[in-house]
Amino acid sequence: MKYGFGIDLGGTTVKIAYFDETGTMLDKWEIPTNTAQGGQQILPDIAASIRQYITSHGIADSDILGLGIGVPGPVNAKGMVNKCVNLGWGVFNISETLSGLTGFPVKAGNDANVAALGEFWKGGGQGCDNMVFVTLGTGVGGGIVVEGNLLHGAHGSGAEIGHLVLNPKETVPCNCGKFGCAEQYCSATGIVRLAREFLKTTSLPSTLGQVENLTCKDVFDAAKAGDPAAVAILEQVYDYMGMLLGNVCSTVNPEVVVIGGGVSKAGEVLLEGIAPYFQKYVFHAASGARFALASLGNDAGAYGAFKLALDAFG
Ligand SMILES: [Zn+2]
Repeated sequence: MKYGFGIDLGGTTVKIAYFDETGTMLDKWEIPTNTAQGGQQILPDIAASIRQYITSHGIADSDILGLGIGVPGPVNAKGMVNKCVNLGWGVFNISETLSGLTGFPVKAGNDANVAALGEFWKGGGQGCDNMVFVTLGTGVGGGIVVEGNLLHGAHGSGAEIGHLVLNPKETVPCNCGKFGCAEQYCSATGIVRLAREFLKTTSLPSTLGQVENLTCKDVFDAAKAGDPAAVAILEQVYDYMGMLLGNVCSTVNPEVVVIGGGVSKAGEVLLEGIAPYFQKYVFHAASGARFALASLGNDAGAYGAFKLALDAFG
């Protein structure tokens, strides 16, 4: 039996998990992400943590097949990172660097793509060959698996579905600098923004007007309680989500769409809300896609990162 590590590198913490080659997670822990001085200590910290784990558990180096790592930015299939703004990183080869620090082979991918691979392998996409994964969180991320293979793209930005333009008439810019991206309507922050705008002009009664520091959860909770304005706000949101996923599914034609991220904590009501709008926008031959909630939670990235290594070196 061989073993390996899956690493999910985030802006505040690094999640590291130890797996056997069947994909059973045997252990997991976290270390802080040190973004000081251009993030130059991040990879040495990860290498030291893994080395310490191996030594303290009496694991032989020859039993380790390799490491996989998900990175919060664009990475191509060769491991070239093309700027991770949150980490202070520029352009360099993360696979070569981390391999030099640890002595193990390393495979890297974009974090959302890697989480998609995790859900495809051990989560909501198990048993499928084609999957669209979308994370609805602070932003909107995506990952696409086509005929069993994760889409990376030529420059590591494949499946950046949060930046598909849904509204070319938008006047407020997205974080990426464009106008009208899906992320501006389908993320938790986007839903709150739509809610604030709606509440300014609506004559519908609502309890949301009195809520300080309005959150996405407040909107869902109010809608569940029958608040007419919250229901109307979510209809707008579902319309955008249905358009986004309809367009993506018309391109990919997946068996399953897996939805994760903080907004997916709303549960089945989210899937039921999106369904009619999805049917409105999707091409008929791609309309049979099943919708599922992500099932690995915060571990999806570690599972997917290890799968990258397993596929490359196992
Ligand atoms: Zn954008």
